[in-house]
Amino acid sequence: MQQQPVADTIVCVECGGKAHLLTQFRPDDPPEPGDVVAYVCEECGHRFDIVLDDVDEPEEPGFDW
Ligand SMILES: [Zn+2]
Repeated sequence: MQQQPVADTIVCVECGGKAHLLTQFRPDDPPEPGDVVAYVCEECGHRFDIVLDDVDEPEEPGFDW
């Protein structure tokens, strides 16, 4: 069973909205550490470029409300 290391959505740091994954990965071409994935916020249109880290646990945004 293969774990998806890249979240489909993240929390926008600009407005707190939902940012969607732009980069599409094919099953035969999975994301690797060092790859850059892009997200675009649906609320404010802010774009994020995130470099995947070479770590066991993917960095996840905290929900500190
Ligand atoms: Zn936003």
